[in-house]
Amino acid sequence: MNNYSVTYSDFTGDPYKDWIPTDQTKGASKILQWAYETYGDAIVYACSFGAEGVVLVDLISKVQKNAEIVFLDTDLHFQETYDLIDKAKEKYPELRIQLKKPDLTLEEQANQHGSALWKRQPDQCCYIRKIKPLEEALSGAPAWISGLRREQSLSRSKTDFVNKDEKFKSIKVCPLIHWTWDDVWDYIKENNLPYNELHDQGYPSIGCIPCTSKVTDSTDSRAGRWSGFNKTECGLHTS
Ligand code: SF4
Repeated sequence: MNNYSVTYSDFTGDPYKDWIPTDQTKGASKILQWAYETYGDAIVYACSFGAEGVVLVDLISKVQKNAEIVFLDTDLHFQETYDLIDKAKEKYPELRIQLKKPDLTLEEQANQHGSALWKRQPDQCCYIRKIKPLEEALSGAPAWISGLRREQSLSRSKTDFVNKDEKFKSIKVCPLIHWTWDDVWDYIKENNLPYNELHDQGYPSIGCIPCTSKVTDSTDSRAGRWSGFNKTECGLHTS
C-alpha cells in the first residue's frame, strides 16, 4: 500500500495555496515536479491534445519521461486530432500515450439510445463517451493532471494547483492555473511544438466533431463548443 503525502481521503488543502510563482512557467514545472515526486508514475494526465494539452505534454516529458497520458477517444474526433497524437508519439517516444475508448461503440450507442445522441442529450453522450471512460482510466490512480486555467471561465477561476476532486474521488493537479491564452501560444511557438492544425482555421477549442464549431472570436479559448446548447463543459470538471 502506498503512503502518498496528499490523498483524496486526507486532503486538507492545496499545499501550494499561498505560493506565488515567479518562474517562467508560472509554477507549472515545479508543480509537475512535486506531482511526480509525490505520486510517481501512478499519476495520470488526461490530455485532450488542445493547445494547453501540447504544452503540458512537453512540460511533463521534461519531468517524467515515461508518464502515462490518456486521451479519451470518443470515436468522434477530427482526423487532425488523431494526426497530432501520432506526431506527439513520435516526438516523445517514451511517454505512454494511450487512447481510451468508451464501452459502447457508436453503433451500440445508437441502438441503445437512438442515433446522434449528442443532438438530443449531449450530457448523456458525454457521460458515456468521456466521463465513464475517464472514471475507468483513473481507477486505482491516486491523482490526475488537468490543463485547466483560471481565466478560461468563471467556474474554473478558483481552481488551485492541487484540488480535491469529488467527481472522480481523486486528487486533481492543475499546473497551468496562472497561464493566459497568450502564454499558452507563446510557449507553443517558442518551443516549436506540434499543435492541432484546426487552431489555425478558427477553432480555439477542439473536441468531438458534432460539438465543435468554427468561431469568429478567437480570443475566447472555449468558444465554439456545444453551440446551441446551454452547455459549456463536458462534465469532467463539474460536480
Ligand atoms: Fe458526445 Fe458531443 Fe460529448 Fe463528444 S462532446 S461525447 S459528441 S456530446
